[in-house]
Amino acid sequence: MAEDYYSILEVDRNASQDDIKRAYRRLAMKYHPDRNQGDKAAEEKFKQIGTAYEVLGDEEKKRIYDQVGHERYTQAGGAAGGPGGPGGIHFDFGDMGDIGDIFGDFFGGGRRQRQRDPNAPVKGEDLQYTLTITFEEAVYGKEANISFTVDDTCPRCQGSGGEPGSKRQTCPTCHGRGQVMTSRGFFQMSTTCPTCHGTGYTLDHVCTECHGSTQKRTSKKVSFHIPAGVDNGSRIRVPGKGLSGRMGGPAGDLYIEIQVREHNIFKRNDLNLYCQVPISFTTAALGGEITVPTIYGPTTFKVPAGTQNGKEFRVAGKGVQSPRGNRKGDLYVSVQIEVPVNLTNEQKELLTKFAASCNETSHPFWRSFMDKAKAFFTKHS
Ligand SMILES: [Zn+2]
Ligand SMILES: [Zn+2]
Repeated sequence: MAEDYYSILEVDRNASQDDIKRAYRRLAMKYHPDRNQGDKAAEEKFKQIGTAYEVLGDEEKKRIYDQVGHERYTQAGGAAGGPGGPGGIHFDFGDMGDIGDIFGDFFGGGRRQRQRDPNAPVKGEDLQYTLTITFEEAVYGKEANISFTVDDTCPRCQGSGGEPGSKRQTCPTCHGRGQVMTSRGFFQMSTTCPTCHGTGYTLDHVCTECHGSTQKRTSKKVSFHIPAGVDNGSRIRVPGKGLSGRMGGPAGDLYIEIQVREHNIFKRNDLNLYCQVPISFTTAALGGEITVPTIYGPTTFKVPAGTQNGKEFRVAGKGVQSPRGNRKGDLYVSVQIEVPVNLTNEQKELLTKFAASCNETSHPFWRSFMDKAKAFFTKHS
């Protein structure tokens, strides 16, 4: 005996229309030819499911079917089923609206966006702006003014794209999704909605300022405070100075990313500053007061007699102030001993005399190096 439509759809005779529809979707998806390439049995099953649903999914046809029974209903052909009855069924996959829904559900995951109210307020986007400042400006801080041009939310329509008073309506074709499913034989394709061109909403009167683009090229001027001590890569948030909100939503924020130019004297590491200062070899030998630059102006300090090349001195409190709190870095000065050039004859004589007067203890490093070198020579000869 041929299976009846209830057993084909795997539902019992008391199944509700919802149950029938759910069963049909589940089975149609299971036996859909796209998922059972070349499987004749599956294709046959798929057709049976379609035929069964054609009848059981229609209250009127189902009533007649229940009355006359499976055999008589199918034998009677169109007569028993009324117009479009089972005898006249042609299966055209492209014509099955429900398949689109099935595949929408099945593959839909990320594609099917949650429908949202097109008139709900939306916060404006944040903006980022890179600002290059001098080394000193980073150390001292400053009041900054910047101006830039940006595609901001259109002020006339508040980003709705419609004239004031006209509301955005969820697109009736795609129900706000911006995409519609179209059939190409077995294939279901998602394409941009022809009614709303992908925006998901329609407008009754297009904004005369932005012509529906929802944006307007806008020049912006923003003032803000750069705190003393900012460094390369510091970010400053300027609240409410990003893009304007849409539909009355709040504006986004502006983020200033700080880039600091290099200095020709100072290097910086966190809050400490570093610089190299040349000193004469006589100062290095005799000791004395030297003047060094700091970021806050020149200062003097004493170098002791016998200062060697590269010796580093700390000048407390002459580094950078922390932008938060009261921590302050130091300045490290390393001295570079400069050998005198362009000597006069008199200077040469003096230095020759000086050299002659030197003994072992005058150059302790040289002494210790020569001791090591001697040991090295002995080992390798
Ligand atoms: Zn506008
Ligand atoms: Zn649409």
